[in-house]
Amino acid sequence: GIDPLNTVAVEVAADAHAAVIPLAPGLDEAWFESDGQITKAEVRAVTLAALRPRAGQVLWDVGAGSGSVGIEWCLRHPANRALAVEAREDRAARIARNALALGVPDLAVVRGRAPEALRGLRPPDAAFVGGGVSDPAVIAAAWAALPPGGRLVANAVTLESEPVLIEAYRRLGGLLRRIGIARAEPVGGMQGWRPAMPVTQWAATK
Ligand code: SAH
Repeated sequence: GIDPLNTVAVEVAADAHAAVIPLAPGLDEAWFESDGQITKAEVRAVTLAALRPRAGQVLWDVGAGSGSVGIEWCLRHPANRALAVEAREDRAARIARNALALGVPDLAVVRGRAPEALRGLRPPDAAFVGGGVSDPAVIAAAWAALPPGGRLVANAVTLESEPVLIEAYRRLGGLLRRIGIARAEPVGGMQGWRPAMPVTQWAATK
């Protein structure tokens, strides 16, 4: 008999230019339509690992921006679901387009501001907070919604949001880390390291 997986591999190999979504998290930003508000690929890979997705689980992606974290959560397993909460109308529409383009049309987009917009949503198994971190009520609401054993991961890039994560780490434990990434870019005729803004990440199990 023919191994169906093998058949797929052969078909893919036949078109070297086919856009095949890689299996590992941390997709290049080019996979997503964005206005620049997007978690960079390297940071996103670390974020997905920190969320520890399991098959069939529900993620709240709070301050979803382009939706990249929620989308990558859904890509981990066909039974995974995500609710992308985004305050801005234009970005909410963009998240839906990205979800459709990357083959996870079941991702639900919730247009609204956290923490108010979180009320009444389907309870999560894990939550990612990538926007609204400077408001401690957003972290508190996400934490409150988690079941015992649920994961909370939050990323901060601003002076206003970092202290909220330091305080959460002091109070609730978990892991606090700083992620610094630099990519090589042209400098005149040569190249040099262009650092991205450092990301402070807090990750904890309830
Ligand atoms: N992780 C996202 C990028 C997040 S940028 C990605 O990879 O695409 C932060 C986003 O949070 C912005 O789009 C901003 O509009 C949104 N935001 C900020 N505060 C918010 C709040 N209180 N509720 C909902 N969205 C919020």
